Amino acid sequence: MPRNLTSTGEQNMADAGLAPVSALPGVGPVLAAALERIGITRIQDLWFHLPLRYEDRTRLTPIRDLRVGESAQVEGTIEAVERGFRFRPQLRVVISDDSRSMLCLRFFNFRRAQVEQLQPGTRLRCYGMVRHGAHGAEIVHPQYQRLAAAGVEVAESLTPIYPTTEGLGQKRIGSLIALALERLPADDELELIPASLRAPLHMISLREALLRVHQPPADSDVQALGAGRHPAQIRLAFEELLTHHLSLKRLRASVREHGAPRLAGDGSLRKALLDALPFALTGAQRRVSAEIAHDLAQAEPMLRLVQGDVGSGKTIVAAWAAMAAVESGFQVALMAPTELLAEQHLRNLAAWLAPLGIEPVWLAGKVKGKARSAALEALARDAQVVVGTHALMQQGVAFRNLGLVIIDEQHRFGVHQRLALRDKGREGARVPHQLVLTATPIPRTLAMTAYADLDVSVIDELPPGRTPVATVALSSARREEVIERIRLACAEGRQVYWVCTLIEETELLEAQAAEVAHAELSSHLQGLEIGLVHGRLKPAEKQKVMDAFRAGRCALLVATTVIEVGVDVPNASLMVIENAERLGLAQLHQLRGRVGRGSQASTCVLLYQPPLSALARERLTAMRETSDGFVIAEKDLQLRGPGELLGTRQTGRLEFRVADLARDASMLPQVQQVGSAMLADHPQSCERLVSRWIGGMARFAGA
Ligand code: ADP
Ligand code: MG
Repeated sequence: MPRNLTSTGEQNMADAGLAPVSALPGVGPVLAAALERIGITRIQDLWFHLPLRYEDRTRLTPIRDLRVGESAQVEGTIEAVERGFRFRPQLRVVISDDSRSMLCLRFFNFRRAQVEQLQPGTRLRCYGMVRHGAHGAEIVHPQYQRLAAAGVEVAESLTPIYPTTEGLGQKRIGSLIALALERLPADDELELIPASLRAPLHMISLREALLRVHQPPADSDVQALGAGRHPAQIRLAFEELLTHHLSLKRLRASVREHGAPRLAGDGSLRKALLDALPFALTGAQRRVSAEIAHDLAQAEPMLRLVQGDVGSGKTIVAAWAAMAAVESGFQVALMAPTELLAEQHLRNLAAWLAPLGIEPVWLAGKVKGKARSAALEALARDAQVVVGTHALMQQGVAFRNLGLVIIDEQHRFGVHQRLALRDKGREGARVPHQLVLTATPIPRTLAMTAYADLDVSVIDELPPGRTPVATVALSSARREEVIERIRLACAEGRQVYWVCTLIEETELLEAQAAEVAHAELSSHLQGLEIGLVHGRLKPAEKQKVMDAFRAGRCALLVATTVIEVGVDVPNASLMVIENAERLGLAQLHQLRGRVGRGSQASTCVLLYQPPLSALARERLTAMRETSDGFVIAEKDLQLRGPGELLGTRQTGRLEFRVADLARDASMLPQVQQVGSAMLADHPQSCERLVSRWIGGMARFAGA
């Protein structure tokens, strides 16, 4: 008993942050469960649950001075209330203030009780984003409170707004964080970055930084806080980037502790593969192949990312690497994120490998029953190459001796899935080599952080004979003209993609949009064979449509963004992207990469719905001005930040709390320096940092 007490006591001394949230007064099981949904289980999780943004309720803005696009707090008296039913019920409340200007508050969801409270003469204080309305400035769905009289005090400090979840309001989470902060230990206990490494950075202490971001004092630099440039945020961003870097480095180190089979081979299959190709590898393809061959011949696992713009020819490099493994008697698995793409790889590999007497095995979700058992049996026995989707990682899939795992379009999978497939090939302490292909060009600074666990090779040269794609942006008012253009193109024997996009990325809505476009185009372009593919088609139907398009039997393919990834039909030379303003640069670039693959001059038409936001305009301009994936990636990073760029909405891999890779890129060299020193000399502090910032995610560290 006493021993137990002592050890708990020591634990708390060492890290008060490790106590469960239930140690705070008022936190019962229900609240604890809500907190757990957003990843908060310990006191320190509350310390590091950082505000998403701030609302400035420290002052009142006269209505006359309101600026469209900015959030503001306003106080005024209700002049008029109007209920209307234009399209849907709405409530308009007009207020005025001493600046003798009017502001309209609009509500689309409202209750009767609410309407009754909003009588002319009532004083309101409201907060929200100002926009241009039909009759001047307006705020849609402002937060508001009724005031008994003028002169009620405004907030003393900025109001932090936290990420939260259902059943957990801003007030509640704010007060819990305040309680947790009372337990924040003294500086020297809290800091995990050793003082000697911290000193040259000239940053404020962690304790001060946390207190400032959660409870910004009245005299805070409001502008800096809003822009994420406050010294407190810089301090936290540094630590967050450092932690991220450490976790990837650790991941890499632990993977490299395993052995891997040496896949040196005699080169015979690789030579036969190249001899049978109708083209020669580009210089870049040869260089990257050599880098891969070097890694494969080592007794520790390769962890290599091959970056190459769309159409740069990554697949043949992957096939070549696969032959290195097969030459050494090992199996290779190639996994792609979508069935469409996996099927295409299967077709390519089957064609390339047939002269070598190798037939790839196919394993996707739709492979069922007998075909599936046959595939599984082959994997357990003599299969040399298998191509498939996530199905490769499912239970019941077992390999004889997996030596190399190749993953296409890595950002759609994420670290954990990569590990899952690798573990299929684990044999005792030995794991397969990993090769990751991605078409998302990533700026260097970003790559060093995002892929700190991988070595990077770049295919920076396109195969010869490609013609650049001419890109135009047209308003949707010119839709009919565009449709005419399609008719002409098809009459010349060219093939055309029509891509439908939606804001809400539910497959159902996207499929419906594609069906509508298909019907419209069919009625305008009678006599033309028009295909339709979207994510909700049965695989066999999808296959049929794609086959017809590939074979040229169908001239126009209406598709959702399912074709974004990897589809390769060289005769397609015109692409129309509907609502192009909704897509990010990386996605537009991927889509456009589907044309310009043959020798014909290609065109990409970006149809947009006016009016364009400033951001959308910049994106469309960038698309018109360059086709270089790396330039586009830099621009994208600058315009919208790295999370989107890396497609992490699916993987959660790079969602930072305060850091912003675009904004904080200049810190990365220091992050890497401090990181190396800590890994070498302070491994325990590294552990604690990762646990603090990444928490549950840290379980991948033991990989
Ligand atoms: P991505 O890098 O986008 O995956 P792919 O591997 O699909 O590109 O290659 C695009 C097209 O270019 C394919 O049709 C492929 O056969 C062809 N290709 C690849 N390498 C070369 C080369 N060195 N010369 C000519 N064509 C090539
Ligand atoms: Mg590809």
